[in-house]
Amino acid sequence: MSRPLPPETEELLDRRRRLLGPNVSTFYEEPVHFVKADGVWLWDADGRRYLDCYNNVPHVGHCNPRVVNAIAEQAARLNTHTRYLHEGILDYVERLTGTFDDALSTAILTCSGSEANDIALRMAEAMTGKRGIVATDATYHGNTTLVSHLSRSNVPEVGFGLGQYLRHVEAPDSYRISDPDGQRFAAHVQEAVDDLERAGAGFAALIVCPLFLNEGFPEQKEGWLRPAAEVARRAGGLLICDEVQSGFGRSGSHFWAHQKQGVVPDVVTMGKPMGNGHPVAGLVTTPDIMARFRNSFRYFNTFGGNPVSCAAAMAVLDELEEKGLQDSAAAMGKLAYDRLSELAAKHQVIGNVRQSGMVFGAEFVRDRDTREPASEFADKVVNEMRRRGIILSKLGRHKNTLKIRPPMPFAAEHLDLLIKTLNDVLASVSPHG
Ligand code: PMP
Repeated sequence: MSRPLPPETEELLDRRRRLLGPNVSTFYEEPVHFVKADGVWLWDADGRRYLDCYNNVPHVGHCNPRVVNAIAEQAARLNTHTRYLHEGILDYVERLTGTFDDALSTAILTCSGSEANDIALRMAEAMTGKRGIVATDATYHGNTTLVSHLSRSNVPEVGFGLGQYLRHVEAPDSYRISDPDGQRFAAHVQEAVDDLERAGAGFAALIVCPLFLNEGFPEQKEGWLRPAAEVARRAGGLLICDEVQSGFGRSGSHFWAHQKQGVVPDVVTMGKPMGNGHPVAGLVTTPDIMARFRNSFRYFNTFGGNPVSCAAAMAVLDELEEKGLQDSAAAMGKLAYDRLSELAAKHQVIGNVRQSGMVFGAEFVRDRDTREPASEFADKVVNEMRRRGIILSKLGRHKNTLKIRPPMPFAAEHLDLLIKTLNDVLASVSPHG
Protein backbone atom coordinates (compact mmCIF):
# COMPACT_ATOMS: atom_id res chain seq x y z
CA MET A 1 0.00 0.00 0.00
CA SER A 2 1.40 3.40 -0.89
CA ARG A 3 1.34 6.01 1.85
CA PRO A 4 -0.10 9.54 1.56
CA LEU A 5 2.49 11.88 0.05
CA PRO A 6 3.89 14.83 2.01
CA PRO A 7 2.11 18.14 1.13
CA GLU A 8 5.28 19.60 -0.49
CA THR A 9 5.49 16.60 -2.84
CA GLU A 10 1.79 16.90 -3.76
CA GLU A 11 2.31 20.59 -4.50
CA LEU A 12 5.28 19.93 -6.81
CA LEU A 13 3.32 17.17 -8.58
CA ASP A 14 0.36 19.56 -9.06
CA ARG A 15 2.65 22.21 -10.53
CA ARG A 16 4.20 19.65 -12.87
CA ARG A 17 0.78 18.56 -14.11
CA ARG A 18 -0.36 22.17 -14.57
CA LEU A 19 2.84 23.43 -16.21
CA LEU A 20 4.17 20.35 -18.02
CA GLY A 21 0.93 18.54 -18.84
CA PRO A 22 -0.50 15.18 -17.80
CA ASN A 23 1.29 11.88 -17.85
CA VAL A 24 4.80 13.27 -17.28
CA SER A 25 6.48 10.35 -15.57
CA THR A 26 8.26 10.38 -12.21
CA PHE A 27 10.05 7.50 -10.55
CA TYR A 28 8.62 5.81 -7.43
CA GLU A 29 5.27 5.81 -5.61
CA GLU A 30 6.79 8.55 -3.45
CA PRO A 31 8.65 10.74 -5.99
CA VAL A 32 11.98 12.09 -4.77
CA HIS A 33 12.94 15.76 -4.80
CA PHE A 34 16.70 16.04 -5.06
CA VAL A 35 18.46 19.31 -4.39
CA LYS A 36 22.17 18.41 -4.52
CA ALA A 37 24.61 15.62 -5.27
CA ASP A 38 28.25 14.62 -4.96
CA GLY A 39 29.99 11.53 -6.38
CA VAL A 40 27.58 8.60 -5.85
CA TRP A 41 25.39 10.44 -3.35
CA LEU A 42 22.20 12.47 -3.73
CA TRP A 43 20.41 14.62 -1.12
CA ASP A 44 16.70 15.41 -1.02
CA ALA A 45 15.03 18.64 0.09
CA ASP A 46 14.85 17.38 3.69
CA GLY A 47 18.59 16.80 3.78
CA ARG A 48 18.30 13.00 3.54
CA ARG A 49 21.14 11.22 1.72
CA TYR A 50 20.57 8.53 -0.93
CA LEU A 51 23.03 6.16 -2.56
CA ASP A 52 22.80 6.46 -6.35
CA CYS A 53 22.79 2.97 -7.84
CA TYR A 54 20.95 4.03 -10.98
CA ASN A 55 22.27 7.06 -12.81
CA ASN A 56 24.64 6.64 -15.72
CA VAL A 57 24.51 10.26 -16.86
CA PRO A 58 26.81 11.46 -14.02
CA HIS A 59 29.27 8.88 -15.36
CA VAL A 60 32.37 10.11 -13.54
CA GLY A 61 30.36 11.07 -10.44
CA HIS A 62 27.74 13.73 -9.71
CA CYS A 63 29.11 17.29 -9.85
CA ASN A 64 32.56 15.99 -10.74
CA PRO A 65 34.90 18.94 -10.03
CA ARG A 66 37.01 18.44 -13.17
CA VAL A 67 33.94 18.52 -15.41
CA VAL A 68 32.33 21.41 -13.52
CA ASN A 69 35.53 23.47 -13.83
CA ALA A 70 35.94 22.65 -17.52
CA ILE A 71 32.38 23.81 -18.21
CA ALA A 72 32.75 26.97 -16.10
CA GLU A 73 36.11 27.96 -17.62
CA GLN A 74 34.96 27.49 -21.22
CA ALA A 75 31.59 29.18 -20.57
CA ALA A 76 33.44 32.16 -19.13
CA ARG A 77 35.68 32.41 -22.22
CA LEU A 78 33.54 31.60 -25.28
CA ASN A 79 30.43 29.70 -26.28
CA THR A 80 28.99 30.01 -29.77
CA HIS A 81 27.00 28.03 -32.27
CA THR A 82 29.04 25.64 -34.35
CA ARG A 83 29.68 27.53 -37.60
CA TYR A 84 32.90 29.19 -36.46
CA LEU A 85 36.29 27.54 -36.37
CA HIS A 86 37.24 26.15 -32.99
CA GLU A 87 39.85 23.58 -31.93
CA GLY A 88 37.67 22.22 -29.12
CA ILE A 89 35.54 20.02 -31.34
CA LEU A 90 38.52 18.84 -33.41
CA ASP A 91 40.64 17.95 -30.39
CA TYR A 92 37.71 16.09 -28.89
CA VAL A 93 36.77 14.15 -32.03
CA GLU A 94 40.41 13.20 -32.55
CA ARG A 95 40.61 11.85 -29.00
CA LEU A 96 37.18 10.17 -29.20
CA THR A 97 37.77 8.42 -32.51
CA GLY A 98 41.13 7.24 -31.11
CA THR A 99 39.13 4.89 -28.87
CA PHE A 100 37.54 3.15 -31.91
CA ASP A 101 38.67 0.83 -34.67
CA ASP A 102 40.69 2.78 -37.28
CA ALA A 103 37.78 2.62 -39.76
CA LEU A 104 35.59 4.76 -37.49
CA SER A 105 37.41 8.07 -37.78
CA THR A 106 34.77 10.79 -38.26
CA ALA A 107 32.03 12.14 -36.01
CA ILE A 108 28.98 14.35 -35.72
CA LEU A 109 28.20 15.84 -32.33
CA THR A 110 24.59 16.42 -31.26
CA CYS A 111 22.73 17.35 -28.08
CA SER A 112 20.94 14.05 -27.45
CA GLY A 113 21.20 10.34 -28.13
CA SER A 114 17.88 10.52 -29.99
CA GLU A 115 19.30 12.99 -32.50
CA ALA A 116 22.36 10.79 -32.97
CA ASN A 117 20.20 7.73 -33.69
CA ASP A 118 18.02 9.76 -36.03
CA ILE A 119 21.10 10.75 -38.04
CA ALA A 120 22.39 7.17 -38.02
CA LEU A 121 19.14 5.96 -39.60
CA ARG A 122 19.31 8.70 -42.22
CA MET A 123 22.89 7.63 -42.96
CA ALA A 124 21.57 4.11 -43.55
CA GLU A 125 19.02 5.45 -46.00
CA ALA A 126 21.68 7.55 -47.74
CA MET A 127 23.99 4.54 -48.10
CA THR A 128 21.44 1.91 -49.16
CA GLY A 129 18.65 3.87 -50.82
CA LYS A 130 16.32 1.75 -48.62
CA ARG A 131 14.33 2.55 -45.50
CA GLY A 132 13.68 -0.70 -43.63
CA ILE A 133 14.97 -0.81 -40.06
CA VAL A 134 15.20 -3.77 -37.68
CA ALA A 135 15.30 -3.37 -33.88
CA THR A 136 14.42 -5.54 -30.87
CA ASP A 137 10.94 -5.64 -29.36
CA ALA A 138 12.07 -4.44 -25.92
CA THR A 139 14.36 -1.57 -26.76
CA TYR A 140 14.42 2.21 -26.55
CA HIS A 141 16.40 4.37 -28.95
CA GLY A 142 14.98 7.85 -28.37
CA ASN A 143 12.26 10.37 -28.95
CA THR A 144 12.42 11.89 -32.45
CA THR A 145 9.54 11.03 -34.78
CA LEU A 146 11.63 8.43 -36.54
CA VAL A 147 13.38 6.72 -33.63
CA SER A 148 10.38 6.81 -31.29
CA HIS A 149 8.82 4.21 -33.57
CA LEU A 150 11.57 1.78 -32.66
CA SER A 151 10.27 1.51 -29.09
CA ARG A 152 7.17 -0.58 -28.79
CA SER A 153 6.31 1.06 -25.47
CA ASN A 154 5.86 4.42 -27.21
CA VAL A 155 2.82 3.09 -29.13
CA PRO A 156 2.83 5.91 -31.65
CA GLU A 157 -0.66 6.68 -32.88
CA VAL A 158 0.62 9.50 -35.03
CA GLY A 159 3.93 9.50 -36.85
CA PHE A 160 3.77 10.02 -40.59
CA GLY A 161 3.16 6.34 -41.28
CA LEU A 162 6.76 5.48 -40.48
CA GLY A 163 5.74 2.18 -38.85
CA GLN A 164 5.72 0.52 -42.27
CA TYR A 165 9.53 0.73 -42.37
CA LEU A 166 10.11 -1.05 -39.05
CA ARG A 167 10.32 -4.66 -37.95
CA HIS A 168 10.85 -5.83 -34.37
CA VAL A 169 12.69 -9.02 -33.53
CA GLU A 170 12.49 -10.94 -30.27
CA ALA A 171 14.92 -9.44 -27.75
CA PRO A 172 17.62 -11.80 -26.47
CA ASP A 173 16.94 -13.28 -23.03
CA SER A 174 19.71 -15.56 -21.76
CA TYR A 175 17.59 -16.78 -18.82
CA ARG A 176 14.60 -18.00 -20.83
CA ILE A 177 15.68 -18.40 -24.45
CA SER A 178 18.55 -20.66 -25.40
CA ASP A 179 20.71 -18.91 -27.98
CA PRO A 180 24.33 -19.49 -26.94
CA ASP A 181 25.90 -18.39 -30.22
CA GLY A 182 23.45 -15.72 -31.39
CA GLN A 183 22.25 -17.91 -34.28
CA ARG A 184 18.60 -17.78 -33.27
CA PHE A 185 18.73 -13.98 -33.02
CA ALA A 186 20.46 -13.80 -36.41
CA ALA A 187 17.76 -16.01 -37.95
CA HIS A 188 15.07 -13.64 -36.64
CA VAL A 189 16.94 -10.68 -38.11
CA GLN A 190 17.05 -12.53 -41.43
CA GLU A 191 13.26 -13.10 -41.31
CA ALA A 192 12.69 -9.40 -40.61
CA VAL A 193 15.00 -8.43 -43.49
CA ASP A 194 13.13 -10.75 -45.86
CA ASP A 195 9.82 -9.33 -44.72
CA LEU A 196 10.99 -5.76 -45.36
CA GLU A 197 12.18 -6.76 -48.83
CA ARG A 198 8.82 -8.39 -49.61
CA ALA A 199 6.97 -5.30 -48.37
CA GLY A 200 8.99 -3.14 -50.73
CA ALA A 201 10.75 -1.03 -48.06
CA GLY A 202 14.03 -2.90 -48.48
CA PHE A 203 16.57 -3.23 -45.68
CA ALA A 204 18.64 -0.26 -44.53
CA ALA A 205 19.88 -1.06 -41.01
CA LEU A 206 19.92 -3.21 -37.91
CA ILE A 207 20.10 -1.04 -34.79
CA VAL A 208 20.95 -2.58 -31.41
CA CYS A 209 22.51 -1.75 -28.08
CA PRO A 210 25.46 -4.18 -28.00
CA LEU A 211 24.82 -5.05 -24.34
CA PHE A 212 21.01 -5.10 -24.85
CA LEU A 213 20.76 -3.01 -21.72
CA ASN A 214 17.13 -1.91 -21.98
CA GLU A 215 16.25 -5.51 -22.81
CA GLY A 216 17.71 -6.73 -19.50
CA PHE A 217 21.47 -7.13 -20.24
CA PRO A 218 21.39 -10.85 -21.09
CA GLU A 219 24.51 -12.92 -20.51
CA GLN A 220 26.31 -13.36 -23.83
CA LYS A 221 29.69 -14.73 -24.72
CA GLU A 222 32.14 -12.56 -26.66
CA GLY A 223 31.20 -12.32 -30.34
CA TRP A 224 27.51 -13.21 -29.78
CA LEU A 225 26.31 -10.45 -32.11
CA ARG A 226 28.53 -11.52 -35.02
CA PRO A 227 26.00 -13.78 -36.80
CA ALA A 228 23.34 -11.02 -36.78
CA ALA A 229 25.92 -8.48 -37.99
CA GLU A 230 26.77 -10.83 -40.86
CA VAL A 231 23.09 -11.10 -41.81
CA ALA A 232 22.81 -7.30 -41.89
CA ARG A 233 25.96 -6.94 -44.02
CA ARG A 234 25.02 -9.73 -46.43
CA ALA A 235 21.66 -8.04 -46.95
CA GLY A 236 23.46 -4.81 -47.88
CA GLY A 237 22.40 -2.89 -44.75
CA LEU A 238 24.27 -1.07 -42.00
CA LEU A 239 24.96 -2.22 -38.46
CA ILE A 240 24.23 0.64 -36.06
CA CYS A 241 25.33 0.13 -32.47
CA ASP A 242 23.52 2.38 -30.03
CA GLU A 243 26.05 2.85 -27.24
CA VAL A 244 24.14 5.62 -25.50
CA GLN A 245 24.12 3.49 -22.35
CA SER A 246 26.77 0.88 -22.96
CA GLY A 247 29.70 3.08 -23.95
CA PHE A 248 32.55 4.93 -22.24
CA GLY A 249 33.91 1.92 -20.36
CA ARG A 250 30.75 0.82 -18.55
CA SER A 251 31.10 -2.80 -19.68
CA GLY A 252 34.43 -2.92 -17.85
CA SER A 253 36.08 -5.27 -20.33
CA HIS A 254 36.07 -2.79 -23.24
CA PHE A 255 35.69 0.94 -23.74
CA TRP A 256 32.88 0.27 -26.26
CA ALA A 257 30.56 -2.68 -25.86
CA HIS A 258 30.58 -3.55 -29.58
CA GLN A 259 34.27 -4.41 -29.10
CA LYS A 260 33.16 -7.10 -26.66
CA GLN A 261 30.74 -8.34 -29.32
CA GLY A 262 33.61 -8.67 -31.79
CA VAL A 263 32.02 -6.46 -34.46
CA VAL A 264 32.98 -3.17 -36.09
CA PRO A 265 29.69 -1.32 -36.63
CA ASP A 266 29.12 1.10 -39.51
CA VAL A 267 27.83 3.72 -37.09
CA VAL A 268 28.14 3.97 -33.30
CA THR A 269 25.88 6.40 -31.46
CA MET A 270 26.52 7.73 -27.95
CA GLY A 271 25.16 10.23 -25.46
CA LYS A 272 24.10 10.14 -21.83
CA PRO A 273 27.45 9.77 -19.98
CA MET A 274 29.39 11.70 -22.61
CA GLY A 275 29.24 15.12 -20.86
CA ASN A 276 28.46 13.88 -17.33
CA GLY A 277 25.09 15.66 -17.44
CA HIS A 278 25.94 18.40 -19.90
CA PRO A 279 23.80 17.66 -23.00
CA VAL A 280 26.32 16.39 -25.51
CA ALA A 281 25.91 13.29 -27.68
CA GLY A 282 27.01 12.12 -31.11
CA LEU A 283 28.01 9.38 -33.47
CA VAL A 284 31.14 8.06 -35.12
CA THR A 285 31.29 6.47 -38.52
CA THR A 286 33.53 5.83 -41.51
CA PRO A 287 34.66 8.63 -43.87
CA ASP A 288 32.64 7.03 -46.71
CA ILE A 289 29.37 6.98 -44.83
CA MET A 290 29.99 10.48 -43.52
CA ALA A 291 30.67 11.81 -47.02
CA ARG A 292 27.52 10.17 -48.40
CA PHE A 293 25.44 11.63 -45.57
CA ARG A 294 26.94 15.10 -45.80
CA ASN A 295 26.32 15.13 -49.54
CA SER A 296 22.75 13.83 -49.18
CA PHE A 297 21.54 16.06 -46.34
CA ARG A 298 22.42 19.60 -45.34
CA TYR A 299 22.85 18.88 -41.65
CA PHE A 300 23.43 21.62 -39.10
CA ASN A 301 23.03 21.49 -35.32
CA THR A 302 23.18 24.86 -33.51
CA PHE A 303 24.33 23.48 -30.16
CA GLY A 304 25.86 20.12 -31.09
CA GLY A 305 29.59 20.22 -30.44
CA ASN A 306 29.77 23.78 -29.11
CA PRO A 307 32.95 24.72 -27.22
CA VAL A 308 31.44 24.22 -23.76
CA SER A 309 30.04 20.78 -24.64
CA CYS A 310 33.40 19.71 -26.00
CA ALA A 311 35.19 20.92 -22.87
CA ALA A 312 32.79 18.90 -20.71
CA ALA A 313 33.17 15.80 -22.88
CA MET A 314 36.97 16.07 -22.89
CA ALA A 315 37.03 16.35 -19.09
CA VAL A 316 34.98 13.13 -18.89
CA LEU A 317 37.59 11.27 -20.96
CA ASP A 318 40.40 12.70 -18.79
CA GLU A 319 38.64 11.64 -15.62
CA LEU A 320 37.89 8.12 -16.89
CA GLU A 321 41.51 7.63 -17.86
CA GLU A 322 43.19 9.14 -14.82
CA LYS A 323 40.97 7.39 -12.29
CA GLY A 324 41.08 4.03 -14.11
CA LEU A 325 37.29 3.85 -14.02
CA GLN A 326 36.91 1.23 -16.75
CA ASP A 327 39.05 -1.23 -14.78
CA SER A 328 37.13 -0.45 -11.67
CA ALA A 329 33.84 -1.15 -13.54
CA ALA A 330 35.19 -4.59 -14.46
CA ALA A 331 36.16 -5.35 -10.85
CA MET A 332 32.89 -4.02 -9.40
CA GLY A 333 30.81 -6.01 -11.89
CA LYS A 334 32.45 -9.26 -10.77
CA LEU A 335 32.15 -8.40 -7.08
CA ALA A 336 28.50 -7.38 -7.49
CA TYR A 337 27.80 -10.67 -9.28
CA ASP A 338 29.26 -12.63 -6.36
CA ARG A 339 27.42 -10.63 -3.74
CA LEU A 340 24.09 -10.86 -5.60
CA SER A 341 24.64 -14.62 -6.04
CA GLU A 342 25.03 -14.90 -2.24
CA LEU A 343 21.65 -13.20 -1.91
CA ALA A 344 20.19 -15.62 -4.48
CA ALA A 345 21.28 -18.51 -2.24
CA LYS A 346 19.15 -17.02 0.55
CA HIS A 347 16.16 -15.65 -1.37
CA GLN A 348 14.19 -18.00 -3.62
CA VAL A 349 12.66 -15.04 -5.45
CA ILE A 350 15.97 -14.33 -7.21
CA GLY A 351 15.91 -16.49 -10.32
CA ASN A 352 18.96 -15.17 -12.09
CA VAL A 353 21.89 -12.81 -11.48
CA ARG A 354 23.66 -10.97 -14.30
CA GLN A 355 26.35 -8.35 -14.75
CA SER A 356 27.99 -6.49 -17.58
CA GLY A 357 30.58 -4.45 -15.67
CA MET A 358 29.00 -1.47 -13.95
CA VAL A 359 25.51 -2.70 -14.83
CA PHE A 360 24.21 -5.51 -12.72
CA GLY A 361 20.99 -6.89 -11.36
CA ALA A 362 18.85 -9.75 -10.23
CA GLU A 363 15.82 -11.13 -12.02
CA PHE A 364 12.83 -11.90 -9.77
CA VAL A 365 10.62 -14.92 -10.41
CA ARG A 366 7.51 -16.31 -8.71
CA ASP A 367 8.83 -19.84 -9.17
CA ARG A 368 12.36 -20.94 -10.07
CA ASP A 369 11.10 -23.90 -12.10
CA THR A 370 8.54 -22.09 -14.24
CA ARG A 371 10.58 -18.84 -14.21
CA GLU A 372 7.33 -16.90 -14.12
CA PRO A 373 8.36 -13.24 -13.83
CA ALA A 374 7.66 -11.50 -10.49
CA SER A 375 7.16 -8.07 -12.01
CA GLU A 376 4.98 -6.60 -9.23
CA PHE A 377 7.43 -7.85 -6.65
CA ALA A 378 10.23 -6.04 -8.49
CA ASP A 379 8.13 -2.88 -8.31
CA LYS A 380 7.69 -3.24 -4.57
CA VAL A 381 11.41 -3.86 -4.05
CA VAL A 382 12.36 -0.75 -6.06
CA ASN A 383 9.95 1.40 -4.01
CA GLU A 384 11.07 -0.05 -0.70
CA MET A 385 14.74 0.47 -1.60
CA ARG A 386 13.95 4.13 -2.35
CA ARG A 387 12.29 4.43 1.09
CA ARG A 388 15.49 3.08 2.60
CA GLY A 389 17.70 5.52 0.72
CA ILE A 390 18.86 3.47 -2.28
CA ILE A 391 18.10 4.72 -5.79
CA LEU A 392 17.66 2.02 -8.43
CA SER A 393 15.07 0.80 -10.92
CA LYS A 394 13.92 -2.21 -12.92
CA LEU A 395 13.89 -3.15 -16.59
CA GLY A 396 13.88 -6.01 -19.06
CA ARG A 397 11.37 -7.86 -21.18
CA HIS A 398 9.19 -8.55 -18.14
CA LYS A 399 10.16 -5.50 -16.06
CA ASN A 400 11.24 -7.87 -13.30
CA THR A 401 14.99 -7.32 -13.33
CA LEU A 402 16.69 -4.87 -11.00
CA LYS A 403 18.53 -2.23 -12.97
CA ILE A 404 21.63 -1.27 -11.01
CA ARG A 405 23.75 1.04 -13.08
CA PRO A 406 25.56 3.46 -10.81
CA PRO A 407 28.03 6.26 -11.57
CA MET A 408 31.44 4.72 -12.32
CA PRO A 409 33.10 5.78 -9.01
CA PHE A 410 30.75 3.33 -7.22
CA ALA A 411 33.04 1.30 -4.94
CA ALA A 412 33.06 -1.75 -2.67
CA GLU A 413 31.81 0.16 0.39
CA HIS A 414 28.81 1.38 -1.65
CA LEU A 415 28.15 -2.17 -2.83
CA ASP A 416 28.15 -3.30 0.83
CA LEU A 417 25.40 -0.84 1.68
CA LEU A 418 23.40 -1.78 -1.43
CA ILE A 419 23.58 -5.53 -0.70
CA LYS A 420 22.83 -5.17 3.00
CA THR A 421 19.76 -3.02 2.26
CA LEU A 422 18.60 -5.33 -0.53
CA ASN A 423 18.93 -8.33 1.77
CA ASP A 424 16.73 -6.58 4.39
CA VAL A 425 14.19 -5.56 1.77
CA LEU A 426 13.96 -9.03 0.24
CA ALA A 427 13.35 -10.42 3.72
CA SER A 428 10.59 -7.89 4.38
CA VAL A 429 8.65 -7.70 1.10
CA SER A 430 6.25 -10.56 0.51
CA PRO A 431 6.82 -12.34 -2.79
CA HIS A 432 3.07 -13.11 -2.94
CA GLY A 433 0.10 -10.76 -3.09
N1 PMP B 1 19.40 5.05 -26.88
C1 PMP B 1 19.37 4.40 -25.72
C2 PMP B 1 19.90 3.00 -25.64
C3 PMP B 1 18.88 5.04 -24.58
O1 PMP B 1 18.84 4.38 -23.42
C4 PMP B 1 18.41 6.38 -24.69
C5 PMP B 1 17.89 7.14 -23.51
N2 PMP B 1 17.39 6.40 -22.48
C6 PMP B 1 18.45 7.01 -25.95
C7 PMP B 1 18.97 6.32 -27.01
C8 PMP B 1 17.95 8.40 -26.13
O2 PMP B 1 18.86 9.32 -25.64
P1 PMP B 1 18.38 10.81 -25.29
O3 PMP B 1 17.40 10.72 -24.16
O4 PMP B 1 19.66 11.53 -24.94
O5 PMP B 1 17.76 11.38 -26.51
